[in-house]
Amino acid sequence: MRLTREIHLVASGSGGFDLTDPYDCNAYLVASAGEAAIVDTGIGSAVDALLSNVAAAVPGGEDAVGYVLLTHAHPDHAGGAAELAERLPAARVLASPEVARWVAAGDERAMSLERGQSAEFYPRRYRFRPCRRMEPLSDGERLRVGEVELEAIATPGHAAGHLAFLASGAASACFVGDLVFHGGQISLESNWDCSLQDYERSVRRLAERPFEAFLPGHHAFSLRGGDRHVRAAAQRFNHGFVPRSVV
Ligand SMILES: [Zn+2]
Repeated sequence: MRLTREIHLVASGSGGFDLTDPYDCNAYLVASAGEAAIVDTGIGSAVDALLSNVAAAVPGGEDAVGYVLLTHAHPDHAGGAAELAERLPAARVLASPEVARWVAAGDERAMSLERGQSAEFYPRRYRFRPCRRMEPLSDGERLRVGEVELEAIATPGHAAGHLAFLASGAASACFVGDLVFHGGQISLESNWDCSLQDYERSVRRLAERPFEAFLPGHHAFSLRGGDRHVRAAAQRFNHGFVPRSVV
């Protein structure tokens, strides 16, 4: 599903637009000047559908994909990394240093898999497939995808090692993962690595960066003036409140 000239939605579950597996997060494709990157992978059971959406979106399809980027290690975002790495041998698979470690090792405790299963975020019998080809990406690192530049921004809070990806150049957008949702909602969970203090710092930090398309990991996106959703969350923190949390 084409969202802007350079950005496509290639996976989305029942908490979004029912494009692929019901458990999938929103996964996006950035495509510019013959190069492409995938942001998040879905849970891993609909990689065929994701890749056929990639092929339909970009000339050259899968061969154009140079990067698979993970916002965080939760299985609905990172579960397809292993299969994508196999099927896209030329792509580098990148995440923050700690997420790269957990996804490479298949560390289901670090990614709070069991809690997610009891909350029915993931199927009961789901097992995470480790992706051995992970590489670390640090805060502030920039990647070029054709005429688009993607900057990794460390944004812990919802989960440790969470990254947002800010697009500039030919596209103005932010892939915010599970940090902020439409209307300035956030996602607080009772997992070991969910931190309200980190959350506030990350939201305030991202609220200083202007962008147009707001592209979250679930629920609705917003194509113009999208930074207002991050600023709405920052304003709640600034007033001493906690933004409303999505379920
Ligand atoms: Zn998450």
